Amino acid sequence: QLYNQVQDLKGSIRVYCRVRPFLHGQSDGVSTVDYIGENGNLMIVHPHKQGRDARKVFSFNKVFGTNATQQHIYADTQSLIRSVLDGFNVCIFAYGQTGSGKTYTMSGPDLTEEDTWGVNYRALQDFFQISKSRVDIIEYEIGVQMIEIYNEQVRDLLVVDGSSRRLDIRNNSQLNGLNVPDACLVQVNCTQDVLDLMRVGLKNRAVGATALNERSSRSHSILTIHVQGKELISGSILRGCLHLVDLAGSERVDKSEAVGERLKEAQHINKSLSALGDVISALAQKSAHIPYRNSKLTQVLQDSLGGQAKTLMFVHINPEANAIGETISTLKFAERVA
Ligand code: ADP
Ligand code: MG
Repeated sequence: QLYNQVQDLKGSIRVYCRVRPFLHGQSDGVSTVDYIGENGNLMIVHPHKQGRDARKVFSFNKVFGTNATQQHIYADTQSLIRSVLDGFNVCIFAYGQTGSGKTYTMSGPDLTEEDTWGVNYRALQDFFQISKSRVDIIEYEIGVQMIEIYNEQVRDLLVVDGSSRRLDIRNNSQLNGLNVPDACLVQVNCTQDVLDLMRVGLKNRAVGATALNERSSRSHSILTIHVQGKELISGSILRGCLHLVDLAGSERVDKSEAVGERLKEAQHINKSLSALGDVISALAQKSAHIPYRNSKLTQVLQDSLGGQAKTLMFVHINPEANAIGETISTLKFAERVA
């Protein structure tokens, strides 16, 4: 019962906002983020409006400005993540338009630079470390799945032969959060195992895509870390699951421009992101009916959303003036689920 004291939580859903810096090569224009408060407030200033209408304040559990490092982000996520070792199911989402920093937060920009690692590598490293320190009391096994949801189809990213067989979802509490039971579950013991695995996953993600970036912005990728601990004296078993979800880009696609495949993709993304929003806001309002069945994404995560499970949504903001439309709609989405 070491990591149960996750104090800063009012409900089981919390929302963190992260503002990415201006990138190299971009002129350091005027940021649409006017002010970030200590208490989770964020003031947005609309570049083309005047007076009182130009400013709007949004409020979240935490807001991270452009100076926040990967270490800062993990420090404020760690207690939630560690509760998985006590048998909780946890979902962490990265939401935002393409280019706003979702993959940066979850994975980091560069696998070879440990300093820049995102939440997923840090979580695994943390688990390895804790399981070593408890080795005389509890025997932990750590297994990893990596799947992708593209056009409402679930695909395994860890199959070695790259076969893109479609997978079924099963909702059965016996599965302990592993609701895609036919996806490979690979046991990992150290950071090197994880890095090797990620290379397989990233390679599979590129299969069938005309351009890697394009594909990764239009599919949801879910890294699931399943932990099983056996208490050595009593023999009792506990299980917990951590889902790390890098969502498809939330940008609206202009219906008059998108046709064919692109339009279909956009409709699927739209549908699944609003289904996710509906589920989380129904949970936040303690509604009697939670509409899990409306998308593959919410079906896959059903056992890890609601009940005893804990949810954290990172919403990402691109501070450039020309992103203001998407910034406002991202913040509105976030406000609805907070
Ligand atoms: P997304 O996954 O939302 O499409 P990325 O994570 O790929 O966006 O980020 C887009 C670009 O911005 C990348 O070059 C990334 O390295 C950079 N970037 C994103 N967030 C940050 C940050 N917090 N600090 C520095 N660079 C960032
Ligand atoms: Mg990305």
